[in-house]
Amino acid sequence: MKKTVIVTGASKGIGAATAILFAQKGYNVVINYNESYESATLLARSLSENGFSVTTQKANVANRLEAELLIKETLYKFGRIDVLVNNAGVAFEGLISQTDEVEYDRIMDINLKGVFNCSKAVTQVMVNQQSGKIINVSSMWGETGASCEVAYSASKAGVIGLTKALAKELAPSGITVNAVTPGLIETSMNKNISVEDLNDFVESIPLGRMGTADDVAHAIYFLASENADYITGQILGVNGGYVI
Ligand code: NAP
Repeated sequence: MKKTVIVTGASKGIGAATAILFAQKGYNVVINYNESYESATLLARSLSENGFSVTTQKANVANRLEAELLIKETLYKFGRIDVLVNNAGVAFEGLISQTDEVEYDRIMDINLKGVFNCSKAVTQVMVNQQSGKIINVSSMWGETGASCEVAYSASKAGVIGLTKALAKELAPSGITVNAVTPGLIETSMNKNISVEDLNDFVESIPLGRMGTADDVAHAIYFLASENADYITGQILGVNGGYVI
């Protein structure tokens, strides 16, 4: 039977690359988006035109009811959910003194509560199936902390804690839970960083380049594959050796 994956935040960047890869590997793919209706629709259309099985589903993952609906609609359309990729995320750069409570809550609600909401909603489905894979997209800043990204780093560190705890809880039901921690990846999330700052950063990456969305997508796909059946609760760095 054809497998089904939900990729949250798949309208662009790492999520879009992940959706494309899973489609090419033969999955039914649910492209979740929140604001970027046009790019999500364009991506779905181009994949469908090439014969792949994809659908789009709008949901703000920070909203529990919308996250629940994302899972329900997917189950209704495809009958099962094999993989959930919790990728949706937002960044904020600024001193802690510039990070007001509203911004802090926004980052935590999307980056951490969004992972909680979608994981909680999919858990019952996967427990009933006695199988499933959840892959969370954290960040190397969740491991090391980034200066001027207190809220973001905290949210991504939270994702690592959630991943480890949920892995222990769901292992007896045949469900694995892992995370990837990308380094500096070429996506619109980094569009505000100056070329000069990017070049400085790249000089400190052992592999000497920024990562691509495809680099992360392949790590996610590996964790979702049968080759990773005995891997759970693990945090896989995709950072060109920046964090070792
Ligand atoms: P991106 O190009 O800005 O894409 C972010 C995606 O998240 C978009 O598809 C966006 O969809 C979605 N999103 C944002 N808020 C959402 C919400 N409330 N509900 C549902 N979807 C939402 O960024 P990216 O670099 O691909 O980031 C993807 C993930 O990788 C994030 O979790 C990010 O923290 C993580 N990451 C990125 C890097 C990097 O260097 N780029 C490094 C480490 C980790 P809409 O536009 O439709 O709202």
